Amino acid sequence: MYIISKEAHIYSFRSDLMPVESVDSGSEVIFETYDCYREQLKSSSKNQLFSLKGINPATGPLAIRGAEPGDMLKVTILSIELHDEGTMYLRPGAGVLKKFVVHPEVKKLRVKNGTLHFDSTHSFPIKPMIGVIGVSPKEGDISTFAPGTHGGNMDTKEITAGSVVYLPVSVPGANLAIGDLHALMGDGEVPICGVEIGGRVRVKVEVLKESGFNGPVVEDREHFYVISSALTLDEACQSASENMFAFLSSRLPQYEANDIICLMGIGGDLRISQMVNPLKTAKYRIPKTLFPVRF
Ligand code: CA
Ligand code: CA
Repeated sequence: MYIISKEAHIYSFRSDLMPVESVDSGSEVIFETYDCYREQLKSSSKNQLFSLKGINPATGPLAIRGAEPGDMLKVTILSIELHDEGTMYLRPGAGVLKKFVVHPEVKKLRVKNGTLHFDSTHSFPIKPMIGVIGVSPKEGDISTFAPGTHGGNMDTKEITAGSVVYLPVSVPGANLAIGDLHALMGDGEVPICGVEIGGRVRVKVEVLKESGFNGPVVEDREHFYVISSALTLDEACQSASENMFAFLSSRLPQYEANDIICLMGIGGDLRISQMVNPLKTAKYRIPKTLFPVRF
């Protein structure tokens, strides 16, 4: 089993990243990850602002031998193990509800036996998810705070154990990096954080030669999700819809365009992943049972 230490991490996705490890297609790999604050917030506090250095690290990158531009990288999330304490950090001026955040606050929240303990009366079953998962883009220097067609900071809660993430390969080896785990996060990521937490993610990486798609796609047991990010939510929703149309059109050639559109309207759901990152992220999901398609 390959283990990528969290000491090996990046803060931006670029085409010229140097991989820390190379594996064959079909390998299983464990990524250790810091929380998004790189574990600099150690205790609960109120009225204290922190100047954090080096945040939102993504562990890696991992090269997958044989991956070439035009291929898809299939990443199966086998398991997500979390540390036993999560963090939420609210700052005035940050997040959708910034006008109500009158003082900064760090909340340290216990995560034990699959349960997040918020206070003495409220606890929740955890739903561990990956905020950042991406590969090298063709060009540019894309911060790990931003999502895009390379994946990145998509903050899509369906990227969880048992899911598969498909990412377009733009450079030889692909350069996969993973970070920013959440014990729980609601759609929108309205506070600008989920329950931020470190952990270990075990994945299987496979290179697909046959199917191209120009952005990230997520598959879970019941659905496909096409993920799109743009400057505004309107644009992200438009792009997610068009990309789902393209996804279905290529997989259901027996249907005319109008039929695909009707099917999307009947059984698909357009939703928001997050609205707090440099680009906003929308997802269009379709149930696999209604439209039996394969990736
Ligand atoms: Ca994030
Ligand atoms: Ca996060």
